[in-house]
Amino acid sequence: MENYNALIVRLAEIGHLNNATAVLGWDQQCYMPHGGAGERAESFAVLGKISHEMFIGNETRRLLEGAEKEVSSQSPESDEALTLRAVRRDFDKSVKLPTALVAEIGKATALAHETWVKARAESDWKQFAPTLSHLLDLSRQVANYYGYEDQMYDALLDQYEPGMKTAEVAQVFNELRPGLVKLVQDIAAAPPIDDTPLRRDFDPAGQKAFGETIIRKMGFDFERGRQDVAVHPFCTSFGRNDVRITTRFDKNWLPCALMGTIHETGHALYEQGFDPKDDDTPLSDATSLGFHESQSRLWENIVGRSRGFWNIYYTDLQKQFPGVLDDVSLDSFYKAINKVEPSFIRVEADEVTYPLHIMLRFEMEKAMLAETISVEDVPEAWNEKMREYLGIVPSNDAEGCLQDVHWSGASFGYFPTYALGTILSAQLFEKAQKHNLAIAGDLEKGEFGSLLSWLRENVHQPGRRYLPAELVQRVCGEAPQSRSYLHYLNSKFRDVYGI
Ligand code: ZN
Repeated sequence: MENYNALIVRLAEIGHLNNATAVLGWDQQCYMPHGGAGERAESFAVLGKISHEMFIGNETRRLLEGAEKEVSSQSPESDEALTLRAVRRDFDKSVKLPTALVAEIGKATALAHETWVKARAESDWKQFAPTLSHLLDLSRQVANYYGYEDQMYDALLDQYEPGMKTAEVAQVFNELRPGLVKLVQDIAAAPPIDDTPLRRDFDPAGQKAFGETIIRKMGFDFERGRQDVAVHPFCTSFGRNDVRITTRFDKNWLPCALMGTIHETGHALYEQGFDPKDDDTPLSDATSLGFHESQSRLWENIVGRSRGFWNIYYTDLQKQFPGVLDDVSLDSFYKAINKVEPSFIRVEADEVTYPLHIMLRFEMEKAMLAETISVEDVPEAWNEKMREYLGIVPSNDAEGCLQDVHWSGASFGYFPTYALGTILSAQLFEKAQKHNLAIAGDLEKGEFGSLLSWLRENVHQPGRRYLPAELVQRVCGEAPQSRSYLHYLNSKFRDVYGI
């Protein structure tokens, strides 16, 4: 196992380099003064180059090939075989892209970001369209270098959701869409919910204290993690024992920090929950972005917006903000935090309408990539789909097709993972409750230990051993499906809205 062991050491070194880069990234978003941006970009470039060269270098190839020979007689289910399968996937992907193309994409996306910021500020799609065309061209080249069997989109999707095919995503979405559209329509016909109690004055220090109490209770380990403030909340980690979450506080919108903190903690529990015996190996990682998002959504929505949760914690919340919520009943608060309303901006969408925003982007991306729609026609097509899915039409491009940063970063194929994770959260939760009958009762008592243990064992500790579809199959005994999510939404929101 000489080669195998040497390969693991080499990959651990690369991992540490990448952790150092991640620390710089975290610092940039939380503490770096604006003036540091140029210098920091240079640091990223140097570290990224060293890490990439180490990974695609001949030494890695030699060790990988040697290790594959050493491990070839072992069961494909052994940790060594599963590790090498993951490394082989990454390696083959990395060497397929010519360095010149990677550099060109780096440059093009940096410029595109500036163009997008300006176009969005001026709500002018025409300014962004030529840039987007260029990024689509580059992405088609990427897809062609990666290769694909069925659709070009498969190659791009695979970067974020390994092994998943466009047709499978389409099937899951098609299964979900009619039921979702129907539920949105039924809710729109019901009397609207008043969410103004959530817009009162909530002292940020109180928000921080309350959020910390909740996430401690959920199992976030402050000995192996911390929380800071950032403009765009995220979770990052420098190994299993140092996981950082960020949040932002809006004095007059309680869910921003509170539900955002629970969301990021869902991501963090995944990162803190990898198997200690996998430390410093390629298995100590998430299997996909979709799985990552399934964890954040499960904690934020299925747990954090449940009636059982607020039955227990609402009195604590009221005490945290003396006088602010005294006249708001538990039932009114629960309904407010679950208000559903079709809206233009994806990141502000509730859990019913959210997947429809994603489906729209998925349709657009496939069509743009396949050139069945021209980039100039995107605003019209976007608005038409908004009408069809959500019953509303944006009045300008800034609140329509220019709202998201992703396309300026050439991140085509990324959006579906948000909805796949959302859908998966319900599928996993359903299974967890069946496997361990204590979970439902524990949650009613505000206890999260049994749910976390189940997630640890079934989702977190396997790390990167299995492809996402394999992991779903192992845990749930079936392929990814939308039934559980639709069932969850219907039973919850028909009750919330009395429909
Ligand atoms: Zn997330």
